[in-house]
Amino acid sequence: MKPADAKPPHMDHDTFRSLGHQAIDWIADYWQRLAERPVAPPVEPGSIRAQLPTAPPECGEDFPVLLSDLERIVLPGLLHWQHPRFFGYFPANASGPAVLAELLSAGLGIQGMNWNTSPACTEIEQQMLDWFVHLLGLPEHLRGGGVIQDTASSALLVALLTALHQASAGRTRDHGTGECGYRVYLTAETHSAARKAAVITGLGLRAMCEVATDADGAMDAVDLERHLRADRAAGLTPLMVVATRGTTSHLSFDPLEDIGPVCRRHGVWLHVDAAYAGVAAVCDELRWVNDGVRYADSYCTNPHKWLLTNFDCDLLWVAHPEVLVSALSVLPEYLRNSASESGRVTDYRHWQVPLGRRFRALKLWSVLHWYGAEGLRAHIRTGVRHAQLFADLVGADDRFTLVTPPALGLVTFRQTGTDEENRNLLQAINTEGTTFLTHSEKNGTFFLRFAAGGTLTEDHHVREAWRAVQNAIPRAQHLAGGSADALAE
Ligand code: PLP
Repeated sequence: MKPADAKPPHMDHDTFRSLGHQAIDWIADYWQRLAERPVAPPVEPGSIRAQLPTAPPECGEDFPVLLSDLERIVLPGLLHWQHPRFFGYFPANASGPAVLAELLSAGLGIQGMNWNTSPACTEIEQQMLDWFVHLLGLPEHLRGGGVIQDTASSALLVALLTALHQASAGRTRDHGTGECGYRVYLTAETHSAARKAAVITGLGLRAMCEVATDADGAMDAVDLERHLRADRAAGLTPLMVVATRGTTSHLSFDPLEDIGPVCRRHGVWLHVDAAYAGVAAVCDELRWVNDGVRYADSYCTNPHKWLLTNFDCDLLWVAHPEVLVSALSVLPEYLRNSASESGRVTDYRHWQVPLGRRFRALKLWSVLHWYGAEGLRAHIRTGVRHAQLFADLVGADDRFTLVTPPALGLVTFRQTGTDEENRNLLQAINTEGTTFLTHSEKNGTFFLRFAAGGTLTEDHHVREAWRAVQNAIPRAQHLAGGSADALAE
């Protein structure tokens, strides 16, 4: 530790330069050696905090001390999402160009809430969103209506607030949702973000109407129509249908070609959540993931899942941005400015919940700049190929069955036997440490999920993951149910 008076109050530029090199070296070394680490090290609750001093440092310490604490305290306490044998949840992949641009964005340290608070931040974002309309083959009615949100959950919340504003002819801005009677339609497979948005908006969970699904878990448009009619007849107000293209559990695709016309007939907002799957449309052969998006009032997808753009980065488009702006704009005197009043600029603060906004578009631009559309397509195709490779390995072992046909980067499978045996198998795989998988359930039956798409994953990692599954079988047999490791579930 240095004496306090030997240190300048801020890090000087030369020190920043040399420590910055160390930090980048640290990240490069971390990525380079990640495969040697356990993906999910065992962690006892409270064990990380116990290693920190009880009080904050009184005098500043050198940055390398932080790097060594990172190594000693933090790394053993992480689930390593960038590990080449991380196949849990959905990927949250990072990449060199994204991380470098994130650093540049932090260095610029700007706020992009209004056009005039950093015009380049807004205009580059507008251009990126229009590029993505082209890249994903999205319908033209979404062009010009794009904005970056932190997450698909925020996108859903913003869309729901806008739908409420529209349906109530502006009344909810002043009076809230108390008068209510609004209904939001979803399925059992819809992401929990929809229910959370209903809670946050004050609609509450009682506004949720669960529509039936077919055997694949896709929304039944006939049942949707039935609910809409019944609710109208009961004096309720249908507000929004949340349709998913690629559900979280096992990638079911709600049929927008059937749902869209129903929404149009009933004048109900259609939000399309394609958080994971939507970006796959960069590949022509996977454009079908966005079939029917032409009916969408709002649509979102997450480059921060499968498209090499480290968290966070969700792309939201709304068909009528003026309704969104009208729903969320509040103008205090201290934010008034002539550019906004000219009507010639976009102020993205009206398109989101927070006021301040980061320069996320730089990260997206950097990813596109480095990979080009071809590089992005190659990455998605690798993920699809890895899922197929894993599915082939599962299919060749008669102790296992596929739960759903492999789709995009996801394989759902289970061992012949009980749910408890499958739970034990998952625990045995994850505690062994070379591979990480997660689980879900379909019609009440537990299954394992293998989600490909990691930036560092190569074919041999997929084969190693399958070997880890096979090798875990005898260990799983020795496990008693119900004692799963915290990270293993
Ligand atoms: N929607 C779907 C279909 C998802 O799969 C997920 C996450 O996996 C989400 C929404 C939530 O994403 P976010 O973390 O961006 O809010």
